[in-house]
Amino acid sequence: MAANSGASADVAASPAVMVGEMLPGFIACDYTTVMRAPTTPRKPTRKAISPARRPAKAIANTVAAKAAAKRRKRDGLTPQEIEAIFFRFHQVEPEPKGELESVNAFTLLVAVVLSAQATDVGVNKATRPLFQVADTPQKMVALGEERLTGYIKTIGLFRNKAKNVVALSQRLIEEHGGEVPADREALERLPGVGRKTANVVLNMAFGIPTIAVDTHLFRVANRTGLAVGKTPLAVELGLEKVVPDPYRLHAHHWLILHGRYVCKAAKPLCGKCIIADICRFEHKTPA
Ligand code: SF4
Repeated sequence: MAANSGASADVAASPAVMVGEMLPGFIACDYTTVMRAPTTPRKPTRKAISPARRPAKAIANTVAAKAAAKRRKRDGLTPQEIEAIFFRFHQVEPEPKGELESVNAFTLLVAVVLSAQATDVGVNKATRPLFQVADTPQKMVALGEERLTGYIKTIGLFRNKAKNVVALSQRLIEEHGGEVPADREALERLPGVGRKTANVVLNMAFGIPTIAVDTHLFRVANRTGLAVGKTPLAVELGLEKVVPDPYRLHAHHWLILHGRYVCKAAKPLCGKCIIADICRFEHKTPA
């Protein structure tokens, strides 16, 4: 005991030596290993590595990736990328259709006028019975504003819309022989008809490759980088410059439907998006 007590300073300084003296060699070997384990320096986790200690190569890679992303955003989409976007849309849905119901050019025009600040589903509910009694300008004028209001009162701004629909029907009879004109300026002169409505009618009723920019299309064009613009007109003109000819007619339907069901306003479904690898949006949601 005395010898052990006398060696206490050495034990503190070198436990392996002391334990080796007190225990058989093979046990001492394991024991000292265990004893030493806590003092073995741990491999630093990634989190623990301060930026200052990160390898220069990793930092350079991050900087390069950020610069490349900025460059891609600034330079916009290449013609090959734009082609690829529409090729993929076409592969998935070769003949996209709008969701507003109509039976002829006139009812299409009325449906689009009614759809301003309303959902297609809500408009369809109202127009199904309406178009059974008024599918021509003459019948709409005969129906009159008050009875028309009864059909569309579930749609927002219905009073104003009823007034416009009767007035535009009257104008079609007086100036266009009761026909819907295939002409943008003539359409835009009709009450309640703006550029977007005219574009939808020209495209869907007459097969003219116009691009009607609604809120969904505006968002998709800006996020993807297809056409960046602050106004619907800027986006429309931007798209007209870049959409390849074979895809012009259906471009607006593909983009509207993509915005409505995938590239949603609050939470885009980037993980399910077929053009995610091309899209320039910086805040993509995870898969
Ligand atoms: S990747 Fe995301 S942001 Fe880009 S188009 Fe697809 S859904 Fe929209």
